[in-house]
Amino acid sequence: MLTLSSIDAYYGQSQALHGVSFDVAEGEILALLGRNGAGKTTTLRAIMGLNRVARGVVRFDGRVISGLPTHKIARAGVTLVPETRDAFSLLSVEENIRLGYRTGSPYTVERLLEMFPIIREFRLKKGGELSGGQQQLMVMARGLAMGPKLLLLDEPSQGLAPIMVNAVAEVLSALRRDRLTVILVEQNLRMALDVADRVVILEDGVAVDALSRAAALADPARVEKHLAVH
Ligand code: ATP
Repeated sequence: MLTLSSIDAYYGQSQALHGVSFDVAEGEILALLGRNGAGKTTTLRAIMGLNRVARGVVRFDGRVISGLPTHKIARAGVTLVPETRDAFSLLSVEENIRLGYRTGSPYTVERLLEMFPIIREFRLKKGGELSGGQQQLMVMARGLAMGPKLLLLDEPSQGLAPIMVNAVAEVLSALRRDRLTVILVEQNLRMALDVADRVVILEDGVAVDALSRAAALADPARVEKHLAVH
């Protein structure tokens, strides 16, 4: 469904991605792992058209999307849930989610409130009154309300209290049951291996390894050596 072929990306003169290639099949959850600064966020932003793809090609659903403006990539069915939280602070949580809803999305507001029981508790609060964890769950729900074909999740459990991490894990399991296609950037290796079908590892902007969940579980050291601080 998605293919990255030899992607390069830069911040000014500094090259952040060096020939990154991988693909994601329909219905698959792919975990993108690597240390801080390895290029995970840049990869998601390059797919979304938020960082220019200087060389290489991104194909989605049979067409080239690299070079297209972000709104066209979004319209093609790609949604990025960034790590930075961006609640509309004067609207309630429920209104924030409703605003994301696109006709035809299987994730209606009612279904999302069932999938995220924890959101139900604070659904009438204003976006500006939420804790960081509550905002993170809300932007995930809003992203799903858009009905993406491909969901890009940037560290959804980062900095969350344990109860919120559990809520994220439950939502990821639901997405797996739904066979939604997802790229998950996640520092929490256990959470990543719980849901991912495959793992791609980035190191210094290079995709250095790709393995199945079974291979990662059988040989965790093969993954961990790219995650430990060096
Ligand atoms: P993290 O978990 O810390 O977000 P990451 O794997 O997502 O790490 P990226 O954020 O993609 O890594 O960063 C890749 C490289 O690009 C790093 O060397 C980083 O310092 C650099 N970089 C990221 N954002 C910018 C920016 N806005 N301007 C300049 N350099 C940047």
